[in-house]
Amino acid sequence: MTKIIAPKGTKDLFQPEILKWQFLEARIRQFFSRFLYQEIRTPIFEHSELFQKGTGSETEVVQKEMYTFRDKANRSITLRPENTPSVVRAIMENNLLTEIFPARFFYIGPMFRYDKPQKGRFRQFHQFGVEIFGETSAEVDAELIFSAFGFLNEVNLEDIEIHINSVGCPQCRPGFLPELQAAAQKQQNELCPDCQRKTSTNPLRIFDCKKQQCIDISNQFPKITDYLCQDCHDHFQVVQRTLSTFEVPFTPNPRLVRGLDYYTRTVFEITSGQLGAQDALLGGGRYDHLFQELGGKNIPATGFAAGIERIILHLDKIPETKTSIIFIAYQNAAMKTEAIKLSASLRKKGLAVFMDYNDRNIKKQFKKSDRVGAAFTFILGEDEIANQSISVKNMKTTEQTQIKREDLDQWLRKHM
Ligand code: AMP
Repeated sequence: MTKIIAPKGTKDLFQPEILKWQFLEARIRQFFSRFLYQEIRTPIFEHSELFQKGTGSETEVVQKEMYTFRDKANRSITLRPENTPSVVRAIMENNLLTEIFPARFFYIGPMFRYDKPQKGRFRQFHQFGVEIFGETSAEVDAELIFSAFGFLNEVNLEDIEIHINSVGCPQCRPGFLPELQAAAQKQQNELCPDCQRKTSTNPLRIFDCKKQQCIDISNQFPKITDYLCQDCHDHFQVVQRTLSTFEVPFTPNPRLVRGLDYYTRTVFEITSGQLGAQDALLGGGRYDHLFQELGGKNIPATGFAAGIERIILHLDKIPETKTSIIFIAYQNAAMKTEAIKLSASLRKKGLAVFMDYNDRNIKKQFKKSDRVGAAFTFILGEDEIANQSISVKNMKTTEQTQIKREDLDQWLRKHM
């Protein structure tokens, strides 16, 4: 029989790596609560239309990377490739903007993209992200970038760079796009087939191309920042000024357009010098029209999404959180019931307890105690049962003492 293995681009998580995940997830909750974000959890699958409209039908993600299938009722369903459209849908559907203030949400969870797996790139990967709704000010964009940068600092990520840009708005972008398209058309034959197609469908996406020849050519194209309307220009200036006030280092990068269609004005990306080709740790920006595009009111929004696998790649050491384990050993089958009762009462007190139920001799039980890394072994033998006590062996020092049952709570308070 052929062995069943995990699908390409997915991975199983277990110790010790999973400890890093638990550490990171706890830090995300802790850190972003300082900015009053609340957690939101949305379904892993949605109607495909949400991403076609939300993420944008011309994006790589929607065109090539979605896990889309028909369910039994012949509906088109998609495993979420990103979470922003889902969060917006959930907020509209549950009327959360009238219920929750400030309307700031964070999420942590798996995303799915049919991508070419490589280091830092998976088909099931995990993102955490934050979204802020109802705020137009440039200072909020800067605070968002400050929080992303601050979080990476907090988990000791070094060698990171922040790139920022403005992609304008529906007022100024139309003035830029024909100029960009004209420049791209002039050199169309030198672009890769994908970028040739984008020249007519969505020339802005040419800047996403990772092929060197396309990068070199598009470096000569007009820059969007030269075409910003006064409001977008002023907004971008305030973002930069406020980043300086927050003491966040950044580099303006006119090529940065991000791979998703919904962005307006501020966009940003944080990259790592240690990741190689897949160097983006997180990215985001303002998306003031997504609500309307999904049939809602005119609600401005800004947010980012971060790749958890890529952050994990940077985490070497995490603080140890060691729980002390008690192993319960019993001398022979006659003491098993007492041993089980003791294990139950200790676990009810919140302690980590382990025992072996196979009536092995004490020496073998000590070996098991060592294997689980117990700090103490509690031994129940005939003597201990007769005089209402427990023998306690300190597994590190091998010192053995006897404690009275009535003194057990006091002993636990002192040692556990
Ligand atoms: P995006 O939603 O494309 O803006 O991506 C945001 C972040 O998610 C990126 O900066 C990466 O860190 C991470 N990411 C995106 N796609 C993948 C993938 N296929 N595998 C692992 N991480 C990814």
